[in-house]
Parts: sequence; structure tokens; C-alpha cells
Amino acid sequence: KMRSTRASRPVVAGPGPGESDPATLEADSISAWFGEHKVLEHVSLTMPARKVTALIGPSGCGKSTFLRILNRMHELIGSASLAGRVLLDGEDIYDRGRRITHARRQIGMVFQKPNPFPAMSIYDNVTAGLKLGGIKAGRENKDWLVEECLTKAGLWKEVRDRLRQPGGALSGGQQQRLCIARSLAVRPRVLLMDEPCSALDPTSTRRIEETIHELSEEVTIVIVTHNMQQAARVSDQCAFFLAEQGTPGAIVEHGTTDAMFNNPQDPRTTDYVNGRF
Ligand code: ADP
Ligand code: MG
Repeated sequence: KMRSTRASRPVVAGPGPGESDPATLEADSISAWFGEHKVLEHVSLTMPARKVTALIGPSGCGKSTFLRILNRMHELIGSASLAGRVLLDGEDIYDRGRRITHARRQIGMVFQKPNPFPAMSIYDNVTAGLKLGGIKAGRENKDWLVEECLTKAGLWKEVRDRLRQPGGALSGGQQQRLCIARSLAVRPRVLLMDEPCSALDPTSTRRIEETIHELSEEVTIVIVTHNMQQAARVSDQCAFFLAEQGTPGAIVEHGTTDAMFNNPQDPRTTDYVNGRF
């Protein structure tokens, strides 16, 4: 049975005071290549703390590549090479000597297809990220953290009595919320989400959108979405990516979500947000 002594926050060895506050993430002139193929050119974008930034644009314009570069995930998939800088509250995450795990702990990622460890219990799925993040927590602290993260992900009430069941037994929408809970366990400062709802039904989608809205106070959120209504509902600002006729992906226009939808400056933005390509 879970203990729910919320009276005092337990001491979890991990981020210290202030080290888990939402951070501003800044891409400074990012270019990227797969071999000879240049897929991003001079992409600069500031993603402010406590805001939700939506990345929009057609398939193949480099949104996922850009998102992976923001937490050094692309180093796992091999061949992309990179120019430019990524600053987390002003610190370059690619600085020589700065370890990859440093970026990964502070900048979490949620993918299009929910990917919990299917045979692992719901409880263990949430705590799975702790070891990777170098966070040591005793049993009691873990219980507390599991409840906290599942609550933030909007899943606690549904699973509190079945924490020992496998993650794979949950519905698709629940699995995605479990993945959000897992990414929150290390107290990231930024959460990157690559089309987190495109495999989900409308009801699950709305629940994730509510979660995004609630989380935005404590973690900077960057979301890739093909769903323009979703971008309009969840984001504070949008960046429109385009890769025209074999040219590398670049940002055509960015601005507040209101401006992008109601007063776009570039005719290509107007066409895209109105579903014309
Ligand atoms: P988006 O997420 O906007 O659909 P991607 O970032 O997935 O775009 O892809 C951008 C470009 O990079 C595409 O031309 C794609 O074919 C290419 N690309 C993506 N991943 C790889 C990879 N691992 N190896 C080679 N080319 C890739
Ligand atoms: Mg993509």
C-alpha cells in the first residue's frame, strides 16, 4: 500500500534548490546535416521559461531533428552533424566537457508513440528514469515521487490501486500519460514533446492538453504538432518550419500564437495555419 504522508517533502538526492525550476532554452543558429544532406539551416528560437512553444510545419521540414538536437538526443541516432549552440538558461549544453547526461536529465522528451516499458509495473515505469538521472531515492521517497508524478500527469486516480500492473496493460492515452510521469520523475526543467497526441483518440488528446497546460508553470514545454487547433489551444508562441523545394528546413515565421493565427506576416504561414498545404 502506498504511504501518502505529504506533510513534509522527502529529501531526494538529485537536483538542489532552484535546479529544477523551468529554464529558458535558446537555439542559436542551429544547422544540421545527415551526411551531405543539410536538413536545418540557421534556426534560432528562444523558448522561454513557463511558456509553451509549438513547432509547426509540414512533414520532413526538420522539426523532429531540431527537437532531438535540443537535448542531444540526436547523438543517439548517429549520423547528424551540427553547427550552432543550444543554451539552457545561458549555458551551452554542447560545451566541451559537459556531459550528455547533464542535458538529458534537465531536458526530457516524450515521443509520438507511447513507449512505456510494457512488462514493467506502472510504479517501476515512473521510477525508471531516476537511475539514469543519477537520483538516489529510498522506498518511501519513491512512493511519494510516484504519486506526485502520476498526479501531475493526470493519471494517479486511475492507477493508484493498480500500481503493480504492467505499463503495457494501460490504454494508449494512459500509456502516454505514464510516459509523461516517467519523464517528470527526474524533475526536468524543459519537456520536449514530439507529436505526443497523434497516436491518440480525441478524448485522450484533450486530457494530455490539459496536462500540458497545468505543467507549463513548472516546466518549459516545446511541442511539435500537426494539429493546428491543438497548437492554438496549448501554446503561447509558435514557430513555423518549412523546407521548400529541397532547401534545408528553416523557420519562416515565429511569434505569439495569437499573432501567428490571427495576423500572420508571411503568406506561407497564412496558408499553412489555414490548412491549405
Ligand atoms: P519532421 O519531424 O519535420 O517531419 P525530420 O526531422 O524527421 O522532419 O526530418 C527532416 C529531414 O531529415 C528529412 O528529409 C528526413 O528524411 C531527414 N532525416 C531524418 N532523420 C534522418 C536520419 N536518421 N538519417 C537520415 N536522414 C534523416
Ligand atoms: Mg517529426
